[in-house]
Amino acid sequence: MTITHADLAALDRHDPLAGFRDAFQLEAGLVYLDGNSLGPLLKSVARRVTEVVANEWGQGLIRSWNLHDWIELPQRIGDKIAPLIGAKPGEVIVADSTSVNLFKLLAAGLSLQPERTVVLSARDNFPTDLYMAEGLAGLIGSERCSLRLSDPENLLDAIDERTAMVMLTHVDFRSGRMFDMQAVTRAAHESGALVVWDLAHSAGAVPVNLNECDVDMAVGCGYKFLNGGPGAPAFVFVAERHQPVVQQPLSGWMGHDDPFAFSSGYAPAAGMKRFLSGTPAVIGHAALDSAMDLWQQVDVGQVREKSLRLGDCLIELMENEPALGGFELASPRSGNLRGSQVSFAHPDGYAIMQALIDDLVIGDFRAPDLLRFGLTPLYTRYVDIGEAVSRLADIMTSKRHRQPRYQLRNTVT
Ligand SMILES: *Cc1c(COP(=O)(O)O)cnc(C)c1O
Repeated sequence: MTITHADLAALDRHDPLAGFRDAFQLEAGLVYLDGNSLGPLLKSVARRVTEVVANEWGQGLIRSWNLHDWIELPQRIGDKIAPLIGAKPGEVIVADSTSVNLFKLLAAGLSLQPERTVVLSARDNFPTDLYMAEGLAGLIGSERCSLRLSDPENLLDAIDERTAMVMLTHVDFRSGRMFDMQAVTRAAHESGALVVWDLAHSAGAVPVNLNECDVDMAVGCGYKFLNGGPGAPAFVFVAERHQPVVQQPLSGWMGHDDPFAFSSGYAPAAGMKRFLSGTPAVIGHAALDSAMDLWQQVDVGQVREKSLRLGDCLIELMENEPALGGFELASPRSGNLRGSQVSFAHPDGYAIMQALIDDLVIGDFRAPDLLRFGLTPLYTRYVDIGEAVSRLADIMTSKRHRQPRYQLRNTVT
C-alpha cells in the first residue's frame, strides 16, 4: 500500500520542525527541492542585508569596520557554524569560496609532511576539488604534489605511505552517497596521512562531528543547506592541534598577525585568522551571519530524522507510481548511507527537469542523466514531496517534456 496524501499531511501535523518554514520567503505553490544547491532567502536575512547596505554602509561608512565589528565577521560566523559540524569555537573561519579554501588546506597539509606527496581522492569527487589539487600540483611541481584518484569503493586500500592527504566530499553531490567519516579518517591516520573533508552537502544537512572523528581539516559551503545566499562565503576548519604549525600560501594581509602595522614582512596571525587572505565581502558575510542565527535554534538530530523520512517517502512514491517506471533510483536506499538528497536516473533527465521546473517543482539536473532532489527539512513539507511526484507523473503521462523548448541546455544546470 502506498503513502496517501492524508498520510503526508499527518506527518506534517506532527513535524517538530514545521514552524521553521514561515521564516523563509517562498512563493506559494512552489515546491523547492534545490536547497542543496542554493538555499532560499530567509526573511530575516533580507532585513539584515537591507540594514547593512542602508545604514552600516550607507550611513556608517568606514566607521562600521569598528562600529559594527565588520572585521570580526569571519570568526563570528565561524563560531556559529562550529556546533553544526562538531568543531570547537576558534576552529572555524569564514572566507572566500570552497574552492579557494581547499587550495589553502591542500597546500597547508602537504607542507606539514614534505616527505609525502600524494593527494588521494575519489574519481567521482566534485570536479572543483580535483581541479584545485591539479592546479596546486601544477604550481609546486609533481615531485611535491600529485593527485591520485581511486574508485570510492576501493579508497581505503589506496591509502599508502606516500599519501599526504585524503581529500573527500563527505556526501556525494550526484548520488548523495555518504562516506563513513570516522572509518576513512582512522584509516588515513593509521597510514600517517591527514584528511580534508568537503562538507558542501553535509553542513546543515546531516550530523557531522569533526572532532569526534579526529578530522584534521575541512571546508564547506555557505550557500547550500546553510542558506547564506548566492555565492555566500565558505568555511574552513583546522583542528586546534594543527593550528600553531600550519601555513597556507595565500598569505594576504587579513591573515597577518597585525595587518594595520603595515609591516613589509608576513607573519601569520595566531589561530584560524591565518586562513584569511583579503578583506571580507561584508554584505555576503552579513547574509550568512544572519542565516546562521536560525541554525542556533535547530536540532540537527530532528533535521536528519525528517530528511531521511522525506527521502523514504520520495523513493516509495516514485516507485509506486506507474507513470514513473522509467526512473531508476541513483541514491543509496539505506538511510545510513544517504545524505540529504535523492537522485533518479532517466535518459531524458534534462528535459524532464526543465518541464518540472516550469510546473514549479524545482530540482536540478546533473550530467549525464540524473534528476536531483535536495531535501531540506526546515522548509520542505511531506505534502510537497507528494506534490512533486504527482506533477512529475503528470509530465510523463502527457509527455510534455518532449517539447523542443525543454531540450535546450542552459549555461547553469
Ligand atoms: C558546491 C560545491 C562546491 C562549490 O565550491 P565553490 O568554490 O563555492 O564554487 C565545492 N565542493 C562541493 C563538493 C560542492 O558540492
